[in-house]
Amino acid sequence: MTATTYQPGEIRGLIEIDASKCKGCDACQKFCPTNAIEGASGAVHSINEEKCLSCGQCLINCPFSAIKETHSALETVIQKLADKNTTVVGIIAPAVRVAIGEEFGLGTGELVTDKLYGAMNHAGFKIFDCNFAADLTIMEEGSEFIHRVRSLVKGETNAGPLPQFTSCCPGWVRFAETKYPSLLPYLSTAKSPQQMSGTVAKTYGAKIYDMQPEKIFTVSVMPCTSKKLEASRPEFNSAWKYHQQQGSNAAPYQDVDAVLTTREMAQLLKLLDIDLATIAPYKGDSLFSQYTGAGTIFGTTGGVMEAALRTAYKVLTEEELPKLEFEPVRGLEGIKTASVTLTDKSLNKELTVNVAVIHDMSRNIEPILQEVLAGTSPYHFIEVMNCAGGCVNGGGQPIDGSGTSWVANI
Ligand code: SF4
Ligand code: SF4
Ligand code: SF4
Repeated sequence: MTATTYQPGEIRGLIEIDASKCKGCDACQKFCPTNAIEGASGAVHSINEEKCLSCGQCLINCPFSAIKETHSALETVIQKLADKNTTVVGIIAPAVRVAIGEEFGLGTGELVTDKLYGAMNHAGFKIFDCNFAADLTIMEEGSEFIHRVRSLVKGETNAGPLPQFTSCCPGWVRFAETKYPSLLPYLSTAKSPQQMSGTVAKTYGAKIYDMQPEKIFTVSVMPCTSKKLEASRPEFNSAWKYHQQQGSNAAPYQDVDAVLTTREMAQLLKLLDIDLATIAPYKGDSLFSQYTGAGTIFGTTGGVMEAALRTAYKVLTEEELPKLEFEPVRGLEGIKTASVTLTDKSLNKELTVNVAVIHDMSRNIEPILQEVLAGTSPYHFIEVMNCAGGCVNGGGQPIDGSGTSWVANI
């Protein structure tokens, strides 16, 4: 991997090995997509920061709990919740709601959306469901894909190249940036749902909350350690830039001010003495807690692709999808592929779209990328999620103490 320097302001060293606990068992190395974990068998291991994607897959799979996440924003979030002059917006990712219940004695995989809304509302958060922004991402990513496909059919060269890769997984984006920068034009230009949420909360949301944007503090709750790195990227201050253009003189601020992993949100609720298991459910009270099924399936492998295909189908054929699901891109196989034939009404042409879905990058990404680099890829659209199973198995999710994550051996 090419050595890379982090941009000023980006968080580095997000994942660390505790030398006093590491047994040198090598288990973590199997899960690392970039061979960032160094050290001989039996000796204490360490993480090469320059190669690390901050994905946390090593962390959730270390049998000796020797790997930890750093840069906790818990204290800052507690201070902001107590500050009457600040509106704290909690942005809840799709995969959090099916995992956080475990931390409060509820069933593994139990969907607790309304209870989580209730608990966070009780803590003082305004609820902003990241599923709402996942819907925005799908509209952006799906429209961009249609534009690229139509340009190809018409022989135009001004759209981006195919295959188009998804861009919502920061582990994958950093992998491409550091290892295969020549592939960057193939990635969708759409921001991730987390980053769209932060921007929307501080622009349109500022109107809804009737607040100055600089007094809004956005906290995203994510299944993902790499989202802390994403939020810290210096280019992600679109709301501040927008308000500057409108005449604001406020000091620079990020679109997403803090990221808490699912584990950290559970810790926060416990510190505030809020029991998710017994809290009264809450439905949310604004547009930002509305979303479609497309936004909901973002958290699992194949979900982004399925949602994008639904959008593409409707736009190209100008018809509703007869059946709401594309099963070929579901499931836990390492690489899933499908072909969908659609009639593009505006071009009056039948198009066959070949798609691929990849998760668990450490095992599955290379062959697909080598085809693209060689110009022989049969695909038009490729979804990539770093973690095995997608975000539901992200590096920020609860750890059950068994020593491996639930999809480690698929
Ligand atoms: S899995 Fe854990 S104990 Fe084993 S080498 Fe990695 S950090 Fe050390
Ligand atoms: S966080 Fe991810 S990229 Fe970094 S060392 Fe662990 S598995 Fe490798
Ligand atoms: S798959 Fe999801 S949890 Fe894993 S690195 Fe990507 S965005 Fe984060």
